[in-house]
Amino acid sequence: MNKKLILITLVALSINLVSCGGGGGGGSDQAASPAVNSTTATPVAEKIIVVGAGLAGLTAAKDMKVAGFDVTVLEAREHIGGRTYTDQSTGIPLEMGAHWILGINQSATYELAVEAGVAVSAPFTWNSQGWVFDGSPFTITSEDIDLFNQELATGCQINYQAQSSTSFEEMAETKYENGNFPYLNRREFDYLISTYIEISYAGDVSLMSASQCWEGSNYVGNDVTIPDGYSQLSSYLAQGLDIELNTVVTAVTYDNQGVTITTSKGVYSADRAVMTVPIGVLRSGDIQFSPTLPQSKLDAINLIGSGTINKTYMIFPHTFWDTNTVLFQYMSDPKGHFSEWYSFDNLETYSVLMAFNGGSEAIEMESLTDEEITAEAMTILRTMFGADIPEPVDVIQTRWNSDPFAKGAYSFLRAGAVAVRDRNNLGANVLARLFFAGEATSVANYATSEGAIRSGRKAAIDVINFAN
Ligand SMILES: Cc1cc2nc3c(=O)[nH]c(=O)nc-3n(C[C@H](O)[C@H](O)[C@H](O)COP(=O)(O)OP(=O)(O)OC[C@H]3O[C@@H](n4cnc5c(N)ncnc54)[C@H](O)[C@@H]3O)c2cc1C
Repeated sequence: MNKKLILITLVALSINLVSCGGGGGGGSDQAASPAVNSTTATPVAEKIIVVGAGLAGLTAAKDMKVAGFDVTVLEAREHIGGRTYTDQSTGIPLEMGAHWILGINQSATYELAVEAGVAVSAPFTWNSQGWVFDGSPFTITSEDIDLFNQELATGCQINYQAQSSTSFEEMAETKYENGNFPYLNRREFDYLISTYIEISYAGDVSLMSASQCWEGSNYVGNDVTIPDGYSQLSSYLAQGLDIELNTVVTAVTYDNQGVTITTSKGVYSADRAVMTVPIGVLRSGDIQFSPTLPQSKLDAINLIGSGTINKTYMIFPHTFWDTNTVLFQYMSDPKGHFSEWYSFDNLETYSVLMAFNGGSEAIEMESLTDEEITAEAMTILRTMFGADIPEPVDVIQTRWNSDPFAKGAYSFLRAGAVAVRDRNNLGANVLARLFFAGEATSVANYATSEGAIRSGRKAAIDVINFAN
């Protein structure tokens, strides 16, 4: 079990991958070779298009360029980085997507930060304080959370082995009704489901596979952040690359000879292409593939969901919370409404709290205005910290589900999916001309920057091997 088990949310993302997964199948990217280097590369004349300038696309592009390929990256947004983007509009670096490097041992993300000379934070010391909406004591202990995770991990393993199409909700509710969680009352159980499962995996348990937590691998070592911004990693990878911004890919045609890509700025031809667009974009059908993708890939696109979590950053004129606490838990009614608040580093300079909302709660909130979201958040913060706390001076709200080039935050397994198989099918190449990378293709490290980087490396190696 992971030492961070007392913590929830994106931290719980790492925890869940560990605690529930038990190693899973280990994706083909898990043991990805180290990045290609120029001393081993064989110069080739092939032209490669990479679609998407997130960490997967930039990693693949850099490695293929080092190997001597003629690489162009097509990116729909006006900036690179994708789901690792640091907003600087308030003067404070605020992560819109990835925040933590989860486990720095044997971490491609951490190694990239070191290679890029990017400063990382001190290791996080995880701790928490909890509130209940009606003023009753918050009683869930870290031991209870361990037991809760272990029980669900067993359920995921059984459902994986049976290749069942049971939903996570069905599995968990059956266990609850059978008395497998005697240490949790209903409200506590709902709280852990919403925070540990629905926010961590970014989806509603009613939609999620009961084998969800079978996948994933151990994140070993301390978690750190990048105080001046995750965006520095993509900026480093992008150095020297040919990147076309504001270029929206709408169609991809391929055959045994090559690939033709239609965009908002014209048509590009290449020997091969690496697609790294998010699963939400693949699911939307915004990119037309011709001929139609193989059935196994279409099934994978259908069975891997695009989950949503959103962040609400609130910048205050001064700090009014215990600065030694990282996570403030709020057992809301109904469940999962602003139930996790994080306090971050740099408190001597900034006073920032960040809340997560996940699943359908997060999606519904996207239609509210910033003012409406602020009012709801402040009601809860006043319950937690008292009526006299100040109004925020600035609020930044993410809306990942409405983002046309993400259509969600990261992938989860829908009920009916088969763990390992479907992610591998999503990542499989087509005719050795069309390659796929991105977090959703990673069995071992899905939903993380680690999965993106490793899948990008794997795609580059595959292209190099097929081209030679
Ligand atoms: C709120 C949130 C919190 C997270 N927290 C963490 C964390 O703490 N730690 C962690 O490790 N991970 C975290 N993640 C996950 C991590 O950010 C992602 O797994 C990773 O960044 C995905 O990288 P990628 O390259 O696969 O995809 P992306 O970064 O999404 O890159 C894909 C690119 O394709 C582009 N694109 C899309 N459609 C088109 C098109 N039609 N034409 C051209 N280009 C297109 C997109 O604009 C994008 O730039 C978080 C994500 C979110 C959203």
